[in-house]
Amino acid sequence: MNSRLIAHVDMDAFYASVEQHDHPELQGQPVIVGGTSRRGVVCAASYEARAFGVRSAMPMYEARHRCPDAVYLPVRMPRYQQASAQIFSCFAEFTPQIEGLSLDEAFLDLSDVPGCGDPPALGRRIKQSIRARTGLAASVGLGPNKLVAKIASEKSKPDGLLHVPIENVQTLLDPLPVTALWGIGPRTGVHLEKNGIRTVAELRHAPPPLLQALFGNQARFFQQLACGEDARTVGADAQERSVSQETTFERDLADFESLAGELRSLTEGLCAILRHQQLRPHTLVLKLRTTDFKRHTRQRHFAPPDASFAVLWPLARQLLSEWLAQHPRTLLRLIGVGARDFAAADQLGLFEESLQRAQRLDAAADAVHARYGETALSRGLRSRPE
Ligand SMILES: [Mg+2]
Repeated sequence: MNSRLIAHVDMDAFYASVEQHDHPELQGQPVIVGGTSRRGVVCAASYEARAFGVRSAMPMYEARHRCPDAVYLPVRMPRYQQASAQIFSCFAEFTPQIEGLSLDEAFLDLSDVPGCGDPPALGRRIKQSIRARTGLAASVGLGPNKLVAKIASEKSKPDGLLHVPIENVQTLLDPLPVTALWGIGPRTGVHLEKNGIRTVAELRHAPPPLLQALFGNQARFFQQLACGEDARTVGADAQERSVSQETTFERDLADFESLAGELRSLTEGLCAILRHQQLRPHTLVLKLRTTDFKRHTRQRHFAPPDASFAVLWPLARQLLSEWLAQHPRTLLRLIGVGARDFAAADQLGLFEESLQRAQRLDAAADAVHARYGETALSRGLRSRPE
């Protein structure tokens, strides 16, 4: 396979930067955008606010404690969506192969585009295009795959550009903590450290039996990541895609009631995303991870394709109770629910009638979520272990 050129583009402190752009008097000042209620969290902090230790997802009261003099602003989602649309229209001028990760972040496959022979120049053009259209700064990471591109963009922030050619990949990765790798979160990081694996180099050199014990059937995948190999494609089309929601627990769980409660809210979030993206799956997938890191999946196919909670929730619940019956008293650290095998768009008309009623009910639920906060939707659009 020819070497690919993948970009990861990520706007710097997106919401806060939009506010600073729209209110020039705020430039150079700590700006914090977030929920204004007592239980609100920080959605974005300008770099000036980060200097005080304020971070995204931090409770608002903690941010106010650390940085009382910051300018606190509510979330203006329609404005950020508008800026996001402009940013994505810039991407589309470079390549049709775009995989959006959030409003302000995407992978682009630039392997076949004009100018790909000079990656830094191409990266500069992407940054300039975004700056010209939105007035905002983006960081661009370029590399032979998604893993490297994402790490490169993070390293380059703010307003950065970093190209990592394939011969430099190992030098970049080796000294990083294992949590820099896709799919290794803080919890797994602690677990690995207890086993003497702190850096990517240490993971790369770990004996296979140890990795087998730590990761089960994922061992090879993680060792390949540590070697800088990542074959994931950018923006696979809807037929191959899957959409999922998952959560890792604060403490391991084994009882049906708690697990079903988590699964129910994940399923609600999943249905909302499917409706938003107008996707109707034929397959529902239940994903579990036990405390020994083994992954278990159960799936059910159904017809006609459906994205309503009324159809998906009973299936998810049933898959969970079947699995628990087969694995009594097993502690779980993660639960997830996903959908795939989406109906082609032209198949949809056939089922329109019967779907409409269920959809009206779900749309009403979406409206309630939109009004009263939607933790389920903030969990991310794509499947990511951890
Ligand atoms: Mg960002």
